[in-house]
Amino acid sequence: MKAVLDMLDLQGIGRFVFGDAADGLSRITEPVVVIDSREVQEGGIFVALEGERTDGHRYIDEVFTKGASLAVVSEAWYASQGETGGAEGRRSYLIVDDTVRGLQQMAAAYRRSFAIPVFAVGGSNGKTTTKELIASVLGTGFRVHMSRGNRNNHLGVPLTLLQMSRDTEIAVVEMGINHPGEMELLASIAMPTHGLLTNIGHEHLEFLHDLPGVAAAETRLYEYLDGHGGVCFVNADDPWLLKAASKLERAVFYGLKGYGEGVPHAESVALDPFGRPSFMLCSSQACESVTLNLTGRHNVVNALAAAAAGSYLGLSLGGIKEGLEKLIPATGWKRLEFQEAGGVMIVNDTYNANPDSMRLAIDLLCDLQCSGRKIAVLGDMLELGSSADLEHEKTGRYIQQSGIDMLFTFGDLSKHFSTGNASRTCGHFENRDDLANALGEIVTSGDAVLFKGSRGMKLEEVADALYHER
Ligand code: ATP
Ligand code: MG
Repeated sequence: MKAVLDMLDLQGIGRFVFGDAADGLSRITEPVVVIDSREVQEGGIFVALEGERTDGHRYIDEVFTKGASLAVVSEAWYASQGETGGAEGRRSYLIVDDTVRGLQQMAAAYRRSFAIPVFAVGGSNGKTTTKELIASVLGTGFRVHMSRGNRNNHLGVPLTLLQMSRDTEIAVVEMGINHPGEMELLASIAMPTHGLLTNIGHEHLEFLHDLPGVAAAETRLYEYLDGHGGVCFVNADDPWLLKAASKLERAVFYGLKGYGEGVPHAESVALDPFGRPSFMLCSSQACESVTLNLTGRHNVVNALAAAAAGSYLGLSLGGIKEGLEKLIPATGWKRLEFQEAGGVMIVNDTYNANPDSMRLAIDLLCDLQCSGRKIAVLGDMLELGSSADLEHEKTGRYIQQSGIDMLFTFGDLSKHFSTGNASRTCGHFENRDDLANALGEIVTSGDAVLFKGSRGMKLEEVADALYHER
């Protein structure tokens, strides 16, 4: 039992009430910590979190029935149960003031028990993609552990760390923020040794306000790394990041223009008809041709971030190429995912949207080679706070002046895509079924149709309807 307790520093985090189930802790060699009762494993540790929709403490009976060895619970809940925690002393509890903080403290303690590089990936756009690329590249030379999916917040980061197995050689951790101060918190838990910010863009403006606000909040990662002897990989194409990096002790610059001796850069970037970029990845000595299984020109810079990381950690150009090309997004990736149906090219970018990624997606649609029309089906960009109307208008001007043929909008804010010049707009909808029916009538073989909007707009339902109808 001691090893697991030590690794998580449970003694330092809260007050123990040991019951028989604590024996289970002695049988597990790695802490299996979950916050979802459905994921509890024999001998594992369950942390009861109070969410908006449900309270994890409601599942305490269930998790012990499933064989959990320990539940981390709040002082308030424990007090409400009477002295035995509701089970005549058989159950083991770690009682803490705040279970979220308890989870974070366990994760930080567990991370401290690893003397390995931890690579943090923050920034406004492309974090998950870049994390996957870095893990794929580093995976050619090391045993890599990475964040699952998009688990990047104050809960996702600790869970990611707690899932590291003892043989992990490098961890790649996505860090997503939407408030000032969050990067400091995430860095204090993950204690990264290496890190990058993909870019600075219009994200979560309801709390970060504007680009200087986003830059100030995100670049706290640089400050953490610099203050702890870490290495920052800096996207020198991004003016905000370049500026913030001027004070750094240890920075590795990468970007499309090619910076820094010994950092791979890209030459001869081209897109195939499906929007997949290929390019020559060149170091000062050699070049390798690379074709990504991702779509959009922006993924070249995401790939260069991974190449910079791989090269810094000693991987060959050939190994980096292998890692970059190996990454094939799973079905349902919804980040510029291409589907062909009855001669129609459907581009599903419904995973999320903000003004930066909206422009990128429009550029990609314009770059595509198709015999028919280029049709954009765009929903609201959420989480823009008080600048929402203005940002939709600005993005609208970009869309209306672009090379697309038709625009269909969905949702209240998206009406602003048609402010002033609305020459591309062919319809506005407030209902997904009506939109799907209209597209069913209009779209014909040879057309390329882009679907994009914030997660909450659920435009994938409309994209799926068109796919199945064709
Ligand atoms: P989230 O904030 O939801 O975690 P993320 O930062 O992890 O998002 P991804 O999921 O990798 O980002 O990609 C989401 C979208 O961001 C992509 O579909 C694409 O439109 C856009 N994107 C990806 N990379 C870049 C980039 N380097 N620059 C600008 N936009 C990008
Ligand atoms: Mg993400």
